[in-house]
Amino acid sequence: MDSAFRELPAVNELLDEPALVAFAKSLGPSAVKAAVRDALGDARRRIAADGGSAPSFATLVASASARLVHAETESLLPVLNGTGILLHTNLGRAPLPDEALDAIAAIGRGYSNLEFDLDAGKRGSRYARVTGLVRETTGAADALVVNNCAAAILLVLDTFAKGREVIVTRNQLIEVGGGFRLPDVLERSGAVLVEVGTTNRVYLRDVEGALSPNTALLMRTHPSNYRIEGFVADVAARDLAALGRRAGLPTLEDLGSGALVDLAAYGLPHERTVGEALADGIDLITFSGDKLLGGPQAGIIVGDPALIGRMRANPLLRALRVDKVTLAALAATLRLYLEPGGIERIPLYAMLRPSVDELRVRARALQAALGPLADVEVVVTSGLVGGGALPAAAVPSAGIALRPRDGDAGALAERARGARPAVVARVEDGAFIVDVRTIPPEDDARLVAVLRTALAG
Ligand SMILES: *Cc1c(COP(=O)(O)O)cnc(C)c1O
Repeated sequence: MDSAFRELPAVNELLDEPALVAFAKSLGPSAVKAAVRDALGDARRRIAADGGSAPSFATLVASASARLVHAETESLLPVLNGTGILLHTNLGRAPLPDEALDAIAAIGRGYSNLEFDLDAGKRGSRYARVTGLVRETTGAADALVVNNCAAAILLVLDTFAKGREVIVTRNQLIEVGGGFRLPDVLERSGAVLVEVGTTNRVYLRDVEGALSPNTALLMRTHPSNYRIEGFVADVAARDLAALGRRAGLPTLEDLGSGALVDLAAYGLPHERTVGEALADGIDLITFSGDKLLGGPQAGIIVGDPALIGRMRANPLLRALRVDKVTLAALAATLRLYLEPGGIERIPLYAMLRPSVDELRVRARALQAALGPLADVEVVVTSGLVGGGALPAAAVPSAGIALRPRDGDAGALAERARGARPAVVARVEDGAFIVDVRTIPPEDDARLVAVLRTALAG
């Protein structure tokens, strides 16, 4: 038994193993050292318990490596998104443009004029700079940026509707997902929900009939992830805004996805834009920064300067405020909207641009690279915008369908998720289907490497 202990390698010998050195970059050298010690400790306990021989060097490396793979899974990791869903909430929604990443590095690395007026040499406003850009890109008279769209709605309700009534039509009482249910948000904000109309048909007279001295706000939402079809009637935003003005009440529209440009330019159905909501006369519009805007997580409120001024004075804003890194990334993303060709540098729009034929060319190259290892077919696929935009609109796309030799596509998907970078994609009809629209072309080589390893079992 003593000789078995002596056969165990030293910690340093294992630390020099390239397969383990690689983890130092993502997890830090201390984590690698701890995993090696744990693997050796485990081996010692086993020898002491059953008196067997020492495990091989390769077994110890595999044992430490398994611990490190597990540790990595608990941290944030890059993923190749083969689902074809562009704004995949579970996969981090919008990838950021290079300009935003550069701004994050430049501002995050050191100090900045976050709340300092360099001209006057005294305290300045955290929000002033980005407000100008939001105004320029949306055409709104004023704007405020908070942590996310849910926070934006909460701030509006807290400022205007605490203890008072908010009228919402029944066809818009939505659950967005991730625990965001409009009736619950209203309740938590201390507002009283007044539902009017029926699930399928709502008229302006329903809203009018519900007005009371205690009404604080008329609210409409983007029914972002479902569609009611058939025998339907709805209240137009323009009519709701006019009613609000007649009654002296502010109107709020929660747009959610928040398109600044017309998606019809990308061959998709029209999606209501922030500019259209403003043109309809809605007083306050809320939307996310990391959906159709294509920037960092943020909640943006645009609209009437007097109403936004009241929200700026609300102490709750302090708890919902954004940090310098978000402001830097958001400003850099918004600037792209003002530059000719700039929108194409926003990854979301760069991914929406290629035709199915162009994507098929990429899929064929992947097929050629993987062909010998599995049955690989180039397929036409159907993706989604996601993030609550255009729930019913398919984004026509292309990809590859992999049928592994052992017939177990589920196991292949599991190995692909376990690879680094992980590949996440659909399993359908016994095939692992990787949509290429949501994978940047520059990652094709890495995708091939991962899939080759995964196919080899
Ligand atoms: C996504 C969405 C929200 C929530 O936005 P977050 O930025 O995730 O807080 C709210 N309303 C609608 C209509 C949405 O689509």
